[in-house]
Amino acid sequence: MVSKNEAKSELDEGTSAESWVVSAGRDRRPGSPLNVPPVLASNFVLGDSRAYSRDDGTPGWDALEEIVGGLEGGHAVAFASGMAAIAAVFDQLPTGSVVAIPDDCYQGAASLAQAGQSRGRWTVQRLAVTDTARWLEMSAIADLIWLESPTNPLLTVADLDVICAAPRKAGSIVAVDNTFATPLNQRPLALGADLSIQSVTKLIGGHSDLLGGVVTARTANLHAALRMTRELGGATPGSMETFLAARGARTLAIRLERAQSNAKTLAERLERHPMVTQTRYPGLPSHPTHEAARRQLKGFGTIISFDVRGDAATANAVCAAMKLIQHATSLGAVESTIERRAAISGQEHLPPTLLRLSVGIEGVEDLWADLDRALRSHSNRQE
Ligand SMILES: *Cc1c(COP(=O)(O)O)cnc(C)c1O
Repeated sequence: MVSKNEAKSELDEGTSAESWVVSAGRDRRPGSPLNVPPVLASNFVLGDSRAYSRDDGTPGWDALEEIVGGLEGGHAVAFASGMAAIAAVFDQLPTGSVVAIPDDCYQGAASLAQAGQSRGRWTVQRLAVTDTARWLEMSAIADLIWLESPTNPLLTVADLDVICAAPRKAGSIVAVDNTFATPLNQRPLALGADLSIQSVTKLIGGHSDLLGGVVTARTANLHAALRMTRELGGATPGSMETFLAARGARTLAIRLERAQSNAKTLAERLERHPMVTQTRYPGLPSHPTHEAARRQLKGFGTIISFDVRGDAATANAVCAAMKLIQHATSLGAVESTIERRAAISGQEHLPPTLLRLSVGIEGVEDLWADLDRALRSHSNRQE
């Protein structure tokens, strides 16, 4: 695409990411559609660089890769889902590798690591997110340092800057699941990570209407290896999905700005609510990793976790009492959603009353009214 190099260099030369993303990934040749349309083709007339979509991609995949790659500052490969992207990273490991993952992270990543260990492919070490000394120790030993920051669902912020820059075992990979921060709040590759992962299902897509994932690599070698994994594994993105994800990315900055501002207000109020015993949001001064968050994140994100006073039944009842806020899993969309995470299979270790709230772009007073009413309607049970 003609736009490719032009657009990338504009970002490098200081155009803000929020401006760049509005026009990135377009074909600027006269007569081209302004938006790359979804190209519903498995194959192309032979004689040019594209023959078959699974091997060579489509113009629509390229557009999304150009957009996310430009934001993350590397070379992107789009996949069918966030988990397909994560699985492609683990696919790079030789048999017998040592993998370090956080004690709190996306459950799918933890389950994938665990399953690989059970099959004898690698061994897994789980490290406390905040135990930076231990991460530095493991950097000398591990073949994959897998980080996520802020984490899902406890919102702990790792010392990414220190860990990504640490000396490490030759040939090892440092990968960061950057889904919660998005590349607008944090750019792991600039800190020294090799790979940054987005579930574009979440904030980049932003409308709960698609599944997608992107891995962005710092080096051309890793990029080529990931392309090979996609080609052979076949976890290719859908053409409608990449179109929608690219469209979502254009409004990411403005959605993020609004949802983050909502989240900050709600977190401050939840912290003082009589029916809430603990509020986890990286932007709260009381948050255990607030200092690391201030140092590393441009914005504190759109996710809040809080513990309801009472028991699991109380927390379930609070979710069920929401009217504006949707009782649904997943996160990062225009609509606010809430869920009791310990109710999910594999997440029973979490506090039973922990609710994860993904804050959307609704009016903040409407969101607060819904939260406060749902919380108060169950306070009688506890008194
Ligand atoms: C949802 C999520 C994933 C998985 O993405 P899918 O698109 O659902 O496969 C990975 N990491 C984080 C942090 C997530 O929230």
